[in-house]
Order: sequence, then structure tokens, then C-alpha cells
Amino acid sequence: MAWRQGPRRTVSGSLDRAARGSYAAPMRNKYLRPCSIALSLMLTCAVATPAHAGQWMSRTVDGIMGTRIFVELWADDPVKGAQAIDAVMAEMRHIDDTMSTFKPTSEVSKVNRLAAKEPVVISPELFNLLETAVHYSRVSHGAFDITYASVGYMYDFHTHKRPTAAQIKAALPAIGYKHLLLDPKTHTVRFSMPGVRIDLGGIAKGYSVDQGINILLARGFKHALVNAGGDSRVIGDRRGRPWMVGIQHPDHPDQIVTRVPLVNEAFSTSGDYERYFIQNGVRYHHIINPHTGDSARQVRSATIIAPTATQTDGLSKTAFVLGAEAAIKLYNSMPDVAAIIIKPNGQMLYTDNLQPGNLPPPAPPPDADGAAAQASGTALANGTALAGSAGLPSSEDAALTPPQGPSTPPPGSTTVVTGSAAATTNSGH
Ligand code: ADP
Ligand code: MG
Repeated sequence: MAWRQGPRRTVSGSLDRAARGSYAAPMRNKYLRPCSIALSLMLTCAVATPAHAGQWMSRTVDGIMGTRIFVELWADDPVKGAQAIDAVMAEMRHIDDTMSTFKPTSEVSKVNRLAAKEPVVISPELFNLLETAVHYSRVSHGAFDITYASVGYMYDFHTHKRPTAAQIKAALPAIGYKHLLLDPKTHTVRFSMPGVRIDLGGIAKGYSVDQGINILLARGFKHALVNAGGDSRVIGDRRGRPWMVGIQHPDHPDQIVTRVPLVNEAFSTSGDYERYFIQNGVRYHHIINPHTGDSARQVRSATIIAPTATQTDGLSKTAFVLGAEAAIKLYNSMPDVAAIIIKPNGQMLYTDNLQPGNLPPPAPPPDADGAAAQASGTALANGTALAGSAGLPSSEDAALTPPQGPSTPPPGSTTVVTGSAAATTNSGH
């Protein structure tokens, strides 16, 4: 991508600075600016344009793949615009019908029922996506693994249900992408042992966004955005300015920590705040460490920027399992990938192609605020544990200090804040 070869984009700030609207760093690149935070995908649009010159059209549909789907495009012909959005939504429903583990009739449900007993013939579409999932397992050293579901199915974040240590121990051997035996000649999948389950909740939404974008590209649209939960991709720009996506504050859904400009790129954010509950001070959330069967607590939020949403979705869970530093190293080794990670102590890490502008002093050592806050869990959940440090701002600070200065989007700009909390059901997607 063009920006990859050019100078690094400047990003400034930690969560702490973001919440206060304090951005001393010079902006060396117009395409990446700090700003204040926000949490669910929210849209502030658009400049009125005469109808004869075309128009922005958008639609939001809740409940597909357990999340909210949003499509926006610039249409010269409103009839064609509406038909294109219909086609994108139909494709999303098709992917939900094929991939959902909550629909007994889906192909994935059939695989989960039968593949431990016999090879199951599957569609080319599902076969290709399973191969893609295995690819991300390999590149992430097993951090991304759709067989997490062998234990993951026992969590219910809606009813605060989680497996006991004994249940995890019994089911853990069934986690492992190497249990997936894919035969390209027969287009079959088989599990190498009983108890294996798959769930594509960590990649199907990114894939569906790419499919939606492909539909719009094939119909000639030059400016469009498709979003599903934490996954988004854009075609072109927003007619003269980049699309702006915001990374929400892990504890304050209404605040944006950083905005990222996108042109012809995809963007995924995974966060431990999307589906979770807190028990005995510990946060149990929907991203599972395949090695332990427990929630992966090494980071609070990970945002990936890359050409396709399948890539960004496939990589956004990895940081939670590998830890921020190891994940940044991995992302730095990948062409066309940029990432922003928020650690439990509030520190933000960036890949080398994003240049932090003016970071605060290093976070306190983990055995001080960081570990204490993480261990207590509840404290982080209401955002108060690390106030006054380089970590997360307190809810009081955030409430008293609205975003200012460069954190405020320019008039007429669009900021999409990705996330699915507002729209999701406990579908496990
Ligand atoms: P969103 O669904 O909003 O896009 P994510 O991209 O962060 O959110 O995906 C979270 C989902 O990924 C979980 O709900 C679960 O279905 C799946 N998942 C959880 N842990 C893993 C893992 N280690 N590897 C692959 N997928 C996972
Ligand atoms: Mg996702």
C-alpha cells in the first residue's frame, strides 16, 4: 500500500492523553491523527450533496452474524445503490446461514456434529475459509485457532457461565488446529479426535466484509464502507477525505482513543470489553487462549490495518494470546500490516509504520498498578484503577474532560467506531 512505502504515519498519545485531548506531537502525516476515544461503531456524517450529483446512501441491519451490519456508499443512481446494499446484506445472511454455530442447519454445525466420526464434504467457500483459518493459526503460532471452540462453547457471556477447571482440563486436548484434517481432493474436513469443535466467529465477519466489498467493487462503486461488528473495509475515500475509523476506549464506549484514516484498506478491532463478565474480580471475555482455555488477558484492545478484512480479523485476536510486544514484533514482520495495541496498564504500542508522537512516561511496573489492576479485574472494568498513571484514565477524568483540539474530527468528516457491543447478542460470533 502506498502509505507503507512512504513516511511513517504519526500517532500520538496514550489512553491517558487521548481522554484529555492533549496532543503535543506534530502531525507529520495528515492520514493519522490522534483524537479522543469511542467504543461502538458510530457514524457522524455527511455533507449535503445535490441529488443529481449522486448521494451517500447507508443502511444498518442488526442481528446478522450476531452483530450489526452497516453499509454506506456513494451512489450515482439511488436504485442501483439500494440494490447493491440489498445484495451485500443478502451475502451477509448467506454467510451467517453457512457459518453460524447457533444455526443447527449451518454447514459448520453439520461439521461439528459429524467430523469426528467421518470426513464431511463441505462447500468450496467453507473449505477455503477453513484453509485461511489454518493459515492464521500457523502465522500466529497457534494464537488464532478456530478449534478454541472445543472449550469456548462452554462459555456464555450473557448468563455469566464458564467452564470449571476440571471441564477445561478435560476438553483442552481437543483444541488445536492440527486436529483439522482438510482434504482438497475430496473437499472434506475431518477432526482427528472426538470433542473437537470449530467456531468461525473470529474470522467470518472479516470474510463477510470482504465479500460485501467485492460485490460493491463488481458493481462499480468507488466510495463505500462495509462494517460487521469489529471489522470494516472501505473502497476509495469519502470523496476528498479519508474514511475515519475510531478505536474506542476499552472502558468508555463513548470515547475514542485514536482515529485512523483509511483509503482502500480494512480495519479490525478486537477488545476484551465486547462480550465479558466479571467474577471474583476476574474478567472473562470472548477471546480465548487456545493453550489454556481461559480468556486471553494480555491486552485490552488490538487494532489491525491491512488490505483485506479477512487479514485484519485473522490477526486481531493474536495479540491477546501472544502479548503486546510479541504481537507487535509479529505484525512488524508482515508487509501491509499496521497495528495499535492497548495494554492492560493503558500503554499503547504501535507497529513501526505508525509513529507515536509524544508518548507519556513508561507505564508503572507490572507488579505495581498494572498487575494489581489486572488481577482485581473489577477495577479495570470501571476504568478507575490506573487513574493518574500513564494508564487508563478514570471514568471521572473522562467525563469531566471532553475531547478537545485535534481530537475533534473536522466538520463534515465521518468517524466510524468499530465494535459490536451495542448490537450483539450472545451468539458467540
Ligand atoms: P468481532 O466478532 O466483534 O469482530 P473479534 O474479531 O474480536 O470480534 O472476534 C471475537 C470472536 O473470535 C469470539 O467471539 C470467538 O468467536 C472467536 N475467538 C475467540 N478466541 C479465539 C481464538 N483464540 N482464535 C480464533 N477465534 C477466536
Ligand atoms: Mg472481528
